[in-house]
Amino acid sequence: MELNRALEDGQDLETHIDFRDMESAVQITAANIPVDQNTLYFYFGKDVAPNGYFWIFPKGHNKANIGLGVSGLIGKKKSAQSFLDDFMNKHYPNAPVLTKIAGGVPCSITLDKISGPGIMLVGDAARQVNPLSGGGIASGMIGGKIAGTIAGEAIKQNKLDHILTYDKAWQDRLGKRHETFNRIKEGIYNFSDDKFNSIAHSILKIPIEKRTLGKVFTTALMNNPSLLVDIAKVFVV
Ligand SMILES: Cc1cc2nc3c(=O)[nH]c(=O)nc-3n(C[C@H](O)[C@H](O)[C@H](O)COP(=O)(O)OP(=O)(O)OC[C@H]3O[C@@H](n4cnc5c(N)ncnc54)[C@H](O)[C@@H]3O)c2cc1C
Repeated sequence: MELNRALEDGQDLETHIDFRDMESAVQITAANIPVDQNTLYFYFGKDVAPNGYFWIFPKGHNKANIGLGVSGLIGKKKSAQSFLDDFMNKHYPNAPVLTKIAGGVPCSITLDKISGPGIMLVGDAARQVNPLSGGGIASGMIGGKIAGTIAGEAIKQNKLDHILTYDKAWQDRLGKRHETFNRIKEGIYNFSDDKFNSIAHSILKIPIEKRTLGKVFTTALMNNPSLLVDIAKVFVV
């Protein structure tokens, strides 16, 4: 009976995504990459990863994960793989490639509806990726934990429509925060390389041990007052 009620309340889950929000990403693990093993490297700018970023994450023994993500709009004109090839040919032409992964990363806000009668979406399927960073592992696991807990409660209480509370629980936990990140992402898309450089120079002035996310953000703002205007534009809807 509870399930019937849930079925009556149910609607189709709309899973369409604008291709501009589907980041095109590729990553290799390569050997002979002599980078500092205690540093994560991020590169921004139109030459390396327009509307996205490029990374080198050391993996020990001179191996590293090297990759990038660019917005679907960019990937349509020049693939993520081509950006990666350009970078490798320029900086590490003789590095052996050990593994490669590639795929679409949905960098958007969460779907309007992520549960329905007898179904709960988690992870990329629900668009639970952090739209600013493109990271979807931790947030997908958080979504999965919330969904699993609610599904368990629904079975225990024999109230199957309880699973429909998942949407709000996700929104309260991370979904609303992702909406803010998505607006920031849209603002950052419009930054010129000069602006990125100016932000990087101001961040370099912070002693390494004090480079927390909050300090980075406030320093960037103090040294680039025009950022306040950009941020205001992002948040005025
Ligand atoms: C190149 C690249 C680098 C990335 N780097 C990072 C990173 O550093 N940090 C981070 O947090 N995120 C990263 N991401 C994003 C992250 O990988 C995803 O957000 C995350 O893996 C999503 O997890 P998921 O379980 O939702 O989906 P997936 O990991 O895609 O899992 C879905 C699974 O379902 C299986 N499947 C599909 N269809 C069916 C079917 N019909 N029947 C049965 N099984 C099926 C698939 O084979 C797959 O195993 C990266 C993505 C890419 C492409």
